[in-house]
Amino acid sequence: MNLLKQAITEKGKVLSDEVLKVDAFLNHQLDPELMQQIGKEFADLYKDAGITKILTIESSGIAPAIMAGLELGVPVVFARKRKSLTLVDSLLTANIHSFTKNETNEISVSNDYLQENDTVLIIDDFLANGQAVRGLLNIVEKANATLAGVGIVIEKGFQAGGDLLREQGVRVESLAIIDSMSENKITFREEF
Ligand code: 5GP
Repeated sequence: MNLLKQAITEKGKVLSDEVLKVDAFLNHQLDPELMQQIGKEFADLYKDAGITKILTIESSGIAPAIMAGLELGVPVVFARKRKSLTLVDSLLTANIHSFTKNETNEISVSNDYLQENDTVLIIDDFLANGQAVRGLLNIVEKANATLAGVGIVIEKGFQAGGDLLREQGVRVESLAIIDSMSENKITFREEF
């Protein structure tokens, strides 16, 4: 997706060989027009998949997910990372290890909003080692729902998550795949 690649190139900051900061449009300040285009792109990719629900994780997955939900006309559920006083009944939980924060969190989703008759599209901002997506897959499984696939805004193709998921037969659609990055240059995978 060219608009996204342009935003990454112009506004992204490579913090190390492995970490990209995109606070200017995705992780802190949000670019609504870009988010809308991202939503349209996901909706187009998954329009024939019978999606009934989008599942993401707070907080940075929410913006692209809500835009995709708007386009597909389906509700968006976000997994919570912190225990909530009101989220107490029929919880589906999974553990995920955060790549950027180096900590393990239990994520939870209420069974009320994810059920066995759902066909789910998982959306997240980044795909690195695949921990976050695996946690969400785990929750889809626990709900006995059907997984249609995964939509990722930025995949770091030099980390193992995307390849491992695809090898397992999971449909993974990433709008930009970074093959390598350094302070001066970000190289995208072409024509994937
Ligand atoms: P994974 O679970 O695939 O290893 O990592 C994905 C999660 O870690 C995403 O939800 C995202 O929040 C965070 N993440 C991983 N790599 C990066 C990165 O390079 N930049 C930013 N901003 N977040 C990342």
